[in-house]
Amino acid sequence: MMDPAELHATLLAIDTHIDIPWPTGPDFFDDSPRDQTGRRVDAPKMRAGGMKAGCFAAYVPQGPRTPEGWEAAGNRALAMLDAINGLARDAGDIRVRIATTANAVEAAHRDGAIAIVPAVENGHAMGEDLGMLAAFRAKGARYLTLTHNGHNALADSSNPRKDLGDGETLHGGLSELGRAAVLELNRLGMLVDISHVSAQGALQAAMLSRTPVLATHSCVRALCDVPRNVDDLMLDALRDCGGMVNITAMPSFLRPGGRPDGVTVSDFVDHIDYVVKRCGLAHVGISSDFDGGGAFSGWRDASESGNLTAELVRRGYDAAEIGALWGGNFLRLLRRAEEAADA
Ligand SMILES: [Zn+2]
Repeated sequence: MMDPAELHATLLAIDTHIDIPWPTGPDFFDDSPRDQTGRRVDAPKMRAGGMKAGCFAAYVPQGPRTPEGWEAAGNRALAMLDAINGLARDAGDIRVRIATTANAVEAAHRDGAIAIVPAVENGHAMGEDLGMLAAFRAKGARYLTLTHNGHNALADSSNPRKDLGDGETLHGGLSELGRAAVLELNRLGMLVDISHVSAQGALQAAMLSRTPVLATHSCVRALCDVPRNVDDLMLDALRDCGGMVNITAMPSFLRPGGRPDGVTVSDFVDHIDYVVKRCGLAHVGISSDFDGGGAFSGWRDASESGNLTAELVRRGYDAAEIGALWGGNFLRLLRRAEEAADA
């Protein structure tokens, strides 16, 4: 039997959804423990946990769908992308690079550097201006999560915000603008992320997109029935479009009423197993949502990432399969988006 720690050290392990502190936070290279920095991801923890790459999200909370609201959201996303780009530097023997293509992620891995892939969470950040997507792409963003909690101008959310006046549905899935945004993302080589999107909107995006769509941080609804999770119909749609769901470390998505200390690595891998059985191994990945609410007993910060590999080995996955789950599948999607983009 292979040694999980040895195997984990060789993997190109990618976490497809991580939040950053905003507007300020500890230095990314601060080596202090989690209880001092308040952060679950930094360069030393990634290195200690054998993490080779991560998608760092410029996250914009849902706000008013007004010109002022959109301008503020767009400015915040651009400033956060600048901050994410600013994480790349060398400090001591840890090197961090921005990587905006699959090849660049692999090159960083070969060179022993940690790769950061920028992303934007919440299409609210583009307001009604499709041109903003090119501005995000110019700052390296490789995916856009179409919504967050609350409907925006692009699509309905899985979690309407009554406090913002949301009803159950605003657009019946994607709006006309949302459909145009999906095609613009395709043109730019950005992936379409359906985490947070309503079931109807997610299905429409999967049908419309010229490249595989994915859920960068969601779990399986059949195992934990919350609207944020992906139901069987959507899993089949993700499989059929060549996409994937990246299981995430949010306790309440992994177990009904789940709390951080009551959820384990075994619960997490149950969700992986479910999608592998239903859709095939090529359609599953891994994300933490660290510093955005994710974390549970056994995977409390990036330094503990090897525990997932140990559980995958215990369940009989081989090295190639574990490599695909931890990053190979996601790199395939990045490449598909790059190939389909209009240069
Ligand atoms: Zn999220």
